[in-house]
Amino acid sequence: MKDRIPLIAGNWKMNKTSSEAVELVKKLKLLVKDADSKKREIVVCPPFTALSDVAKELADKNNKNKDNNMNIALGAQNLHFEESGAFTGEVSAQMLKEAGCKYVIIGHSERRQLFGETNQSVNKKIFAALKHGLTPIVCFGETLAEREKNKTKDVIKKQITESLNGIDQANDGDNNFNWIVIAYEPIWAIGTGKTATPGQAQEVHASIRKLLEELSGKKTADSTRILYGGSVKPENIKSLMMQKDIDGALVGGASLDVESFTEIVKY
Ligand code: PEP
Repeated sequence: MKDRIPLIAGNWKMNKTSSEAVELVKKLKLLVKDADSKKREIVVCPPFTALSDVAKELADKNNKNKDNNMNIALGAQNLHFEESGAFTGEVSAQMLKEAGCKYVIIGHSERRQLFGETNQSVNKKIFAALKHGLTPIVCFGETLAEREKNKTKDVIKKQITESLNGIDQANDGDNNFNWIVIAYEPIWAIGTGKTATPGQAQEVHASIRKLLEELSGKKTADSTRILYGGSVKPENIKSLMMQKDIDGALVGGASLDVESFTEIVKY
C-alpha cells in the first residue's frame, strides 16, 4: 500500500484564455465534487494570464459547489529565478504566490528543448520557488535516442543530481525532499500518443526513488511523490497508478478536456 497521496496535475500549456480557463475549472469543480480529497490531490496549471481568475474561481465557495470538499490547487507552468528586475517577459515566484499558486512546474521538456532550460537554471528556479512557499513539480525525462542507447537511467540520474543540487539546504536542514514533486516524463511520450508501458515507467520511477534515497535518505525517498507524464489518458491511468512507485500523473493534452481529466482524476 502506498501512503503517498496521489496527485494529478493538468498542464494546459499555451491553451485557454482566461475566460475559457474559468469555464473549464467551473465544470471541473462540479465533476470532481464527489471525489475524496484525502485520496486525491488535483492541480491545474493554466497560462500566466489566467492564474488570478482561476484562483478566484477555485476560492469561490458561493456557487453551486459549496458542498465541494475536493481539493483543487493552482499551479504555474514556469517562473524566473530572480526576485524582480529587468527580465522582460518573465514572472517571479512572489508574483505567482500572490496570484494564488501553490505549485509550479519547473524544467518541463518543452522548456528545456525550446527555451534553453538547463539543469542549472532548473536548480535556481527550485530555490526561488521554495523560498516563496511554492511546491515545485520538477520534470525529468530522456529522448527516444537516449532510451534506444540504454542511457535512460544515466540521463535521469544526471538531470536529478544537478537539478536538485543543494536543495536540502533550503529546507532548514531537515534533509527532506517531500516538499518537491518529481515528474518523470519520457520526451518521446509527450504529446505523441505513445505512453511508456506501466513496467517501463515503474522501472524508471524505482530508480529515481533509489537515487533520492542515496541523495537524501530513505524517509525522503519514501515520502516524495513521483508523477508519470506522457500521453496519460483515461484508458491508461489505472494500470500506471497500480505501479508501486507511481504516485500520480502530469497530464498535458487530456487535461484540456474536462471529462477526460475527470476520468483520470477518478481513475
Ligand atoms: C506534458 O506536457 O507534461 C504531457 C505529459 O503532455 P501529454 O499528456 O499531452 O503527453
